[in-house]
Amino acid sequence: MEYDYIITGGGCAGLSLAVRLQRSARLRDKKILIVDRERKTRNDRTWCFWERAPDLFEPVVYSRWQQLFFHSEDFSQQLNIAPYTYKMIRGIDFYTFCYQELEHSPNVTFAYGELERIVNHPSSATVIAGGRTFHGKYVFNSIHTIQLDKPNLAPKHHYLMQHFKGWFVRTEEPFFNQASATLMDFRVSQRHGTTFMYVLPLSDREALMEYTLFTQQLLPQEAYTEALRDYATNWLKLPNYQVLDEEFGIIPMTDYAFDSPEGRIIPLGTAGGQTKASSGYTFRYIQKHTADIVHQLEANGTPFRSVPFTHRRFALYDATLLRILAQNKLKGEEVFTRLFMRGDPQRVLKFLDNETNFLEEIHVMWRLPQLPFAKAALQEILK
Ligand SMILES: Cc1cc2nc3c(=O)[nH]c(=O)nc-3n(C[C@H](O)[C@H](O)[C@H](O)COP(=O)(O)OP(=O)(O)OC[C@H]3O[C@@H](n4cnc5c(N)ncnc54)[C@H](O)[C@@H]3O)c2cc1C
Repeated sequence: MEYDYIITGGGCAGLSLAVRLQRSARLRDKKILIVDRERKTRNDRTWCFWERAPDLFEPVVYSRWQQLFFHSEDFSQQLNIAPYTYKMIRGIDFYTFCYQELEHSPNVTFAYGELERIVNHPSSATVIAGGRTFHGKYVFNSIHTIQLDKPNLAPKHHYLMQHFKGWFVRTEEPFFNQASATLMDFRVSQRHGTTFMYVLPLSDREALMEYTLFTQQLLPQEAYTEALRDYATNWLKLPNYQVLDEEFGIIPMTDYAFDSPEGRIIPLGTAGGQTKASSGYTFRYIQKHTADIVHQLEANGTPFRSVPFTHRRFALYDATLLRILAQNKLKGEEVFTRLFMRGDPQRVLKFLDNETNFLEEIHVMWRLPQLPFAKAALQEILK
């Protein structure tokens, strides 16, 4: 059987694209196959992101905040980010929402098995997975082959891991203020490199707290646990609490160019370069990218678009910051403090969304130490 679109990897990007295709009046009759090694039944991750207006996955937003704390040694402030809202979606709610929509659709098929190969042909592509062969006009692939903790990239690339362990905690007594989340708290030891805590209150008794690092080495598991315990006890001073659940993750922060479209294969998600190299945020980029693909398919019948020049500008900013952090030219704490301490967090969020114009970028970048950044940018340009 020939499919119009085969989506390899039914995670965040694959399912986002599939739901968007289903919602398109012009494309909803297309035959779609989604290939993954598993049907998701666990809450394997939570996604947070900021946005100004509700998007497709608004019905599964679990919590939201418009006040974000930022803390470092020299600066503490509650940032009002309106009209942006910082939102959290639980993986399991996202998967369930997508399955409910897609599994009832007669033109969508799921196939479960390990991806073996994707082969390009002049006007189609073949996917071999779980010992079976499938043919499609286009393949949208979100399965990358990089080992995140040992990526084996050429030395010219910067590679930091954003690695984190999160605890879902519950206190016996009401404790948390649900109105404000902590985006970054750098008042923890910086001995491993850029390190901060992140706290998302989910009710007056429950929160997700994450110990997060941007470094080249993972820590032993006990070190994350120890840091979470220390923060809960000594900083938050949580009264009697229970750890209900945990999450651990690694997000690649790199200037390595993940696959670009080749013939009939279009990369998606992290595999398609949708992880912001300097922050690790991916969810919103995936939403913008998949919406754009659907738009292109509706307009031209093909998923391709020319990469806008702004993309290269932001790639340069990201690579510059990665160079600064990877080579310890400045501390991450100092960089993020300077970004947020001059006010106007909305502009910083817009900048981190790659949506500012050049003048706005100058305003944001002017906050940073100019000499090291100018030098690092020049080294990136000449690289
Ligand atoms: C724990 C965690 C928390 C995160 N939190 C945030 C956040 O708060 N905000 C944010 O913006 N980003 C976050 N990210 C980063 C990013 O948004 C996620 O990694 C996101 O899931 C990436 O989407 P994706 O579709 O590229 O990959 P995935 O969602 O990982 O999807 C890839 C799919 O491919 C399947 N697969 C993989 N290999 C094979 C194979 N060989 N054969 C068959 N199937 C295969 C997997 O089962 C999976 O379903 C987080 C990442 C992690 C790991």
